[in-house]
Amino acid sequence: MSHLSEKELQNLKEQLEKEAGEIESRAEVNKRSPEFGSDTETDFSEEADEAEEQSNQLGVQQALKERLADIELALDKMTRGEYGKCEKCGMDIEIEVLQINPESRLCKACKAV
Ligand SMILES: [Zn+2]
Repeated sequence: MSHLSEKELQNLKEQLEKEAGEIESRAEVNKRSPEFGSDTETDFSEEADEAEEQSNQLGVQQALKERLADIELALDKMTRGEYGKCEKCGMDIEIEVLQINPESRLCKACKAV
């Protein structure tokens, strides 16, 4: 059984779903179709800038993707009734941790390590 009440779970679920929606729309906005090698006339410095921008973009995308994966995992755990348990020590994750970061996979003590 979860240490969270139905109401708390419901609130956290809504928070997770909202967050997932926001990330998905952000990922959409950031999505671009780079056409590498199509403009052979571009001078070197411009291309370097472009490459750098692209790798920043990739980093952002990667972070969003990981966040989304954590959120999906949390939602999945909710349906299985395993939500709110620390993955490291198996203890209940504190409600205040979940309220700030509902996709959290670790309790306060383990996170601090
Ligand atoms: Zn723990």
